[in-house]
Amino acid sequence: MLIPVLKGPLSATFRSLSQTARDKGAVMVFILTEGTPEDYRSMADRIRAYTSAGKLSLKKPGSESSSTGVFVINQPVVEKIFNTSLDKLKKACEDPKKKSLKKIKPGRIAYRVTVHLNIVKTENVLGFLEGGDKKEELLVVTAHYDHIGTTATGEDRINNGADDDGSGTVSVLEIARNFAKAKKEGHGPRRSMLFMTVVAEEQGLLGSEYYTTHPIYPLANTVVDLNIDMIGRVDPEHKDSTHYVYVIGSDRLSTELHQLSEQTNAIYTKLRFDYTYNDENHPTNLYKRSDHWNFAKNGIPIIFYFDGIHEDYHRPSDEVARIDFDLLAVRARCVFYTAWEIANREGRIAADKK
Ligand SMILES: [Zn+2]
Repeated sequence: MLIPVLKGPLSATFRSLSQTARDKGAVMVFILTEGTPEDYRSMADRIRAYTSAGKLSLKKPGSESSSTGVFVINQPVVEKIFNTSLDKLKKACEDPKKKSLKKIKPGRIAYRVTVHLNIVKTENVLGFLEGGDKKEELLVVTAHYDHIGTTATGEDRINNGADDDGSGTVSVLEIARNFAKAKKEGHGPRRSMLFMTVVAEEQGLLGSEYYTTHPIYPLANTVVDLNIDMIGRVDPEHKDSTHYVYVIGSDRLSTELHQLSEQTNAIYTKLRFDYTYNDENHPTNLYKRSDHWNFAKNGIPIIFYFDGIHEDYHRPSDEVARIDFDLLAVRARCVFYTAWEIANREGRIAADKK
């Protein structure tokens, strides 16, 4: 699960400032900070650490980034660039007719920015099970197998990601194992199935983005994606009634999918479906925060299964010992039965709400 954390109010302010300037046609953005030279230095250090930390992307870095060509500068640099004193520049900006602003002739400056490019090779892991009489249609079950690596400080620095998303990864494997077993015993799914654990979810849903831009089956034939991202824990809101799962997105693109999901659960697993995060106005916007989004944005109905945001989220304490295995198994069965119904029903799930 990927929930964006603003790196402090500073960078958020800079980002929105520079975006506004960009929207109005600015090619470069200079942000002047006021304060003592020490203030400037400490801020520059923070920004340097942030911008040099690197970022993974499917594309090579280019001018599309909102932070390219944005400079945070201090007063002496402003005065050099605009060839005038800061006071005069400020006064010129206040002139509503912008006449005095036009009189300011900028000086010439030279700068150099170095971009280090590392190409990292990685992969999604795909397991394909061919269907029967409707094998040209595909149902996808996904979870991400990457996590956030190690943290810089503390005794235990390893972020295990047992819940995020070890719980989803093992569920996909188990669902795949059971569909394969059923097929061996003569009960193979009518539609084809793709069991896919994807990489780089935590870096911005990159593995699923790669798949949906390079699908092995046409997206037009892809019926549904069931995405599992964190289903092994209980969040603080459900400490007293743990037989639940958050269900997100089931009704966004397909009335039928939502009904099927509800009915299947009512028959087999009887979990309490919590739709809190499905609210379009919920500030976390989880509908766009895990791998299913790359399918949904292509008009493919999805369901996202999730256990909530708990105290060990993105911490080394997201340990396997804290997983509630019985609950994990029930939730995985819920996805299994839902997948079974979607794969074997007569009609393809209709996306009637695109
Ligand atoms: Zn995560």
